[in-house]
Amino acid sequence: MAKVTLTEYECRKNLLPDVCMECGEPAGDRVRRKFSWYPPWTTALRYMCPPVGAIVRLTLLKFMDVRAPMCEDHKKHWLKIGLRALISFGILIIFELVCFGLISAFAHGEHEGEIIGLGCGVGVFAFIAWRIFLVVLRSRMIKPTEITLGNITLTNIHPDFVQALEEDRAADEEYHNRSKRKRSPSKNFRDRDDDRPPPKKKKNDSWHDDE
Ligand SMILES: [Zn+2]
Repeated sequence: MAKVTLTEYECRKNLLPDVCMECGEPAGDRVRRKFSWYPPWTTALRYMCPPVGAIVRLTLLKFMDVRAPMCEDHKKHWLKIGLRALISFGILIIFELVCFGLISAFAHGEHEGEIIGLGCGVGVFAFIAWRIFLVVLRSRMIKPTEITLGNITLTNIHPDFVQALEEDRAADEEYHNRSKRKRSPSKNFRDRDDDRPPPKKKKNDSWHDDE
């Protein structure tokens, strides 16, 4: 899988190719997803000093909306992962309650300490196993590795989506290079911050009449 950096303009104007981000097949749906991201180092700060870490994380937290192209099979990509995480948490709670119940029922007599120790050990092991399961689950999820004011970088993207996006960008750039429209030479239209429509969507709009 690959990473891809999308501009805020591409996300806002829905300029992403019709290629599923997960499998690279033709995408029939656009799934609106509000991604959030904060610098990873804030996690360490949160453990070292929770109040300060929480404030810093909230200060640096960034969001970006993406209408992600997805095929029929993968349009519930994030929903399925969320449900699996929720179900696994429910199973963990039930397991811990069963452990607690067994400890209460059998921790008597001369082996009381051993039974309590064994039950607590199994409970802790189950919690660690659940955390590992979450890490594995999230490792395959399409998620941001960075969000800035103008860009979002997503990981676990199918290479075919990245290739289609690069081809779209190259075609747009070629179209603009052929045109005689006046614009800043350092600005790609996909990086602009105005609301003028892209050329491929509306070939006869006023933007192109500027020539
Ligand atoms: Zn797909």
